[in-house]
Amino acid sequence: MTDRPPRPLTPAPLAEPEPRTEPLTELLVQLPKAELHCHLDGSVRPATLLALGAEQGVVMPAATPDTLAAYMRVDDARNLEDYLARFDVTLSVLQTEAALERVAYELAVDAAAEGVRYLEVRYAPVLNTRSALDMHGAVEAALRGLARAEQDADVVARVLVCAIRNQPPELALDAARVAVEYRHRGVVGFDLAGGEAGHPATRFVRAFEYARGHDLACTCHAGEGAGAESVRDAVQGCACDRVGHGTHIIEDASLLDYLVDRRVCVECCLTSNVQTRAAASYESHPFRAYFDRGMNVVLNTDNRLMSGTTLVDEYAHAARRLGFTLPELARVARNGFASAFLPYAEREALLARLAPAFDAVVREGRAGAAVEAGVGMQVTA
Ligand SMILES: [Zn+2]
Repeated sequence: MTDRPPRPLTPAPLAEPEPRTEPLTELLVQLPKAELHCHLDGSVRPATLLALGAEQGVVMPAATPDTLAAYMRVDDARNLEDYLARFDVTLSVLQTEAALERVAYELAVDAAAEGVRYLEVRYAPVLNTRSALDMHGAVEAALRGLARAEQDADVVARVLVCAIRNQPPELALDAARVAVEYRHRGVVGFDLAGGEAGHPATRFVRAFEYARGHDLACTCHAGEGAGAESVRDAVQGCACDRVGHGTHIIEDASLLDYLVDRRVCVECCLTSNVQTRAAASYESHPFRAYFDRGMNVVLNTDNRLMSGTTLVDEYAHAARRLGFTLPELARVARNGFASAFLPYAEREALLARLAPAFDAVVREGRAGAAVEAGVGMQVTA
């Protein structure tokens, strides 16, 4: 393992949202996508935050959807912990079943409008138990919202239950128990989130063992706020099936090979990593290097609100800043469906149903090559 690269002293500038009418954006909306790393409490509509605040008598830090969106978008984080502090705002109004059901519904519907056909929504239900709710109620409310979204939009949506690194390992075990209880009712996996530095995943090995011992899939935030050794903790110490972020895997060539060879899925989040300084810039993000080495990588938003992004924006960043071609992005999208924690037969069925849409997007991309050349988009592999 090598030393980490020096961090910039000033935050790297974040990209402005992409214009919505360009051919590239249209194609990326049409491309069927699976999002595996998306936090419920980080992906609330600004207008909904204001509405929930008004209903519950909680004052929000800004008064209009636009100013609240700007406040919530973390442009000045020094590290992951700074970024996580914004979650106090969303969590302040996510303590009722009605609020959780609403934000889960809206997130899945919004994702569907971006062309997300499979969504794994994650959150830590223990953080929704400040007033009357218990963890069961918190899980059931989100599941209801997602089920309703499945009826109204073309999306399949499931839940990952998170435990929090900064909390005692016993609470993580409680979360794993709740996740297992809902294993056949919409919860498809268990995750460890929160401040990574100083809180190794192996402290929570009993929670992972419990989940895995009850045949529940596991992922873990690792290699984001700490180095590649944290990814070893997650994958080798806790036998996690996927890795959240994994930005610092690039520092350990042997581990990188191991993950490539085992086909371990790494859930990459470009904008979020630039914000937390896990990556110095979009251009220097290791996502391109991972893909070129044959790693099973998937693009994700992490948090639509705090990162001021959409999944279409993240794919567009990969195209424009990391030179991804449309067929390459289609492969990334397929990786997402293939690595979902949905049962294998359901993944296969989804991919089969979406095959014509994949083909159409790549075909259309080729036909529009001349137009896209103007914005630097390569459409051939
Ligand atoms: Zn995350």
